[in-house]
Amino acid sequence: MIDKMIALMRSGFERVKDTRRNNLTYSMPNLLSLAFAMFSLKDSSLSTFREQFDVRAKNLERIYGVTELPGDTALRESIDQVSPKDLQCLFKPAIDYLKSENVIEQRWVLGKYTAVSVDGTGYYCSGKKSCPQCMVKNHRNGEKTYYHQLLGAVAIHPKQSTVFPVACEAIVKQDGREKNDCELNACKRIIPQIRSVLPDEEIIGVFDALFANGPHIRALAEEAIRYIIGTKGQTFTDIQAKKLEQENQLETFSWQTKGKRCTVKFKNGLILNGQNQELLTNYFEYSETSINTKESTFYSTWITDISITQANIKELVEVARARWKIENETFNTLKNQGYHLEHNYGHGKKYLATNFAILTFLAFLIDQIAQHMDKIFQKAKQICKTFKSLWEKVRFVFYLIPAMSMHAIYKFIITRKQIDMPAIE
Ligand SMILES: [Zn+2]
Repeated sequence: MIDKMIALMRSGFERVKDTRRNNLTYSMPNLLSLAFAMFSLKDSSLSTFREQFDVRAKNLERIYGVTELPGDTALRESIDQVSPKDLQCLFKPAIDYLKSENVIEQRWVLGKYTAVSVDGTGYYCSGKKSCPQCMVKNHRNGEKTYYHQLLGAVAIHPKQSTVFPVACEAIVKQDGREKNDCELNACKRIIPQIRSVLPDEEIIGVFDALFANGPHIRALAEEAIRYIIGTKGQTFTDIQAKKLEQENQLETFSWQTKGKRCTVKFKNGLILNGQNQELLTNYFEYSETSINTKESTFYSTWITDISITQANIKELVEVARARWKIENETFNTLKNQGYHLEHNYGHGKKYLATNFAILTFLAFLIDQIAQHMDKIFQKAKQICKTFKSLWEKVRFVFYLIPAMSMHAIYKFIITRKQIDMPAIE
């Protein structure tokens, strides 16, 4: 299955538009396959990949279709020119596969929705180099730091640990002066991408409080995407809700579980804010209190355009709280579980850093699909306990043993045996 996904990526690379005028010695699909192999194997740098190329050459060719090793400059300059759009569209074939296997449907929430969480993260930081996409932080002493950020959109499910990235979009300098503007403007570009990856699905977007505003909600409505947005108790809607609460006009109910008292309160049809009087939204809040100590252990507030009822409120809270999966299961995994999202693989003059980040997300998507569906992969992960240790073992085997497929490598890992050959002397 994992090999099928790798082949899917490779056929996607064949369709990438090649606008290069120089460095034409190496074909674009080969260059992209090479970069993808590097992120899929989670090599820590391009030089590591290069050092090991000769030893791993046959496996690289059989498994990733990589046939030649170009110089660093040729590789970086070529991938720098690729339009990120040509790589962003490669999420769809993998998600289509999940759809054909009914995985998307099995993960519906609130009856019929695919929940997609969107959030921003940093992926490359540098004191010196800058490209037109770089964000700039100006320090008091006049120094500048350049950094890159992106928005990721990830299909989540409250009860499942796997997440499926459906889109990612660079946040660029041109997006605005304030950090918030930048994220909101990048979000305008990612919303149509989410829709195009899941054209026939009912989608519910899950966002943090930055996105609790009229323009964002209208942009979602244009693509027929419903929303749950955190509000941090500070919006116009929150203030109305507080007032209604004092007048006992919020619908309220409580239950007990595992030593906690859980309470939800909600009200449909509130005004979004002064500038958006015509936009009505539905408010809900959820709190947990320890029965023993009476201490509050959780409190949060949200708005949604799903009509809230006694029947769906518990699930709404679950979906709203699953938003953290984009931080915990996605960004933390990409940064701390071997994917090196923050490493410098090269910066480029145009899109190199962005394209490398998209390739990292695509490699992560394929691993998540394997974790969700591939029994052999699941067993290998179970044996290795952490992803980091699984990737290490994969690299060992990939380095030492001729293999026909990634599947064969996972199968070898679960045998937990040395390869049967006379001991070397
Ligand atoms: Zn840059």
